[in-house]
Amino acid sequence: MTTNDNISKAAEIISKAKKIVAFTGAGISAESGIPPFRGENGIWNKYDPDSLDIDYYYRHTKESWKVIKEIFFDFFNNNEIKPNPGHYVLAEWEKEGKLKCVITQNIDDLHRIAGNKVVHEFHGNSSRFVCKQCDAVYPLKEIKITEEPALCPRCGHLLKPDFIFFGEGIPQDAYQNSVEAANDCDVFIIIGTSGQVSPANMIPGIAKRKGAIIIEINRDRSLYTDYITDIFLQGKAGEILPKLKIRNQGSNHTPSNY
Ligand code: NAD
Repeated sequence: MTTNDNISKAAEIISKAKKIVAFTGAGISAESGIPPFRGENGIWNKYDPDSLDIDYYYRHTKESWKVIKEIFFDFFNNNEIKPNPGHYVLAEWEKEGKLKCVITQNIDDLHRIAGNKVVHEFHGNSSRFVCKQCDAVYPLKEIKITEEPALCPRCGHLLKPDFIFFGEGIPQDAYQNSVEAANDCDVFIIIGTSGQVSPANMIPGIAKRKGAIIIEINRDRSLYTDYITDIFLQGKAGEILPKLKIRNQGSNHTPSNY
């Protein structure tokens, strides 16, 4: 079957679906200018992943902070990075009542910026800080980012960016909400994830076992493609998702907010 046939088939399934869940990874944000961690141009080609280990952060805070500042605050969360058409399609489906939620492994906040309200952040979010001493949470814009690690304005303890470092557990509410959503959907769309990161990579299998149709959008084949994917749409998320929406509307016009 050609990709065009697959796109028509997926669009038809989506048009009839009542409870869609989207599961996203670094690939959906690639067209917004955020590189994935692995592969060509991956972030780990330039930085050592150990800098984002939780023990390393507390023991070698200055070294870790330097890397965190460069990756996340100078780059990910600067004002130039914006959602792309793929993010906006998911936001529109939620507004139409079709999409129940987004489960994302991303920490870039782009789903919320695009307009999605129900976003289960499996790995947290780099646009917030948390104080592990007094439990205060601060939006990034309230904290002055300098060369020195940021301290809690309330108690003076070291702040931690509110994404999951290596060695930390998954936030319990995000985990439970994701499992519940995967257990109760008719269509589950996997977008831009290699399926290599555990335990997030177990969520799509839950939906499959419950009988959901699995649609996968990915530039490359993933660990899911040959095992649980029903319809594989190979290509860029920012190009394929709008095609699914346009076909759904029976129109050839590009929506105005793209
Ligand atoms: P990954 O790097 O393991 O895999 C990315 C996948 O996206 C690959 O399968 C690749 O083929 C595909 N891809 C690349 N460009 C694409 C595009 N334009 N459209 C569709 N697919 C595309 O990413 P992962 O599976 O999400 O795991 C990496 C972990 O790193 C995640 O848990 C996440 O927390 C973190 N991460 C997050 C960001 C972010 O927040 N934007 C960026 C990098 C890494």
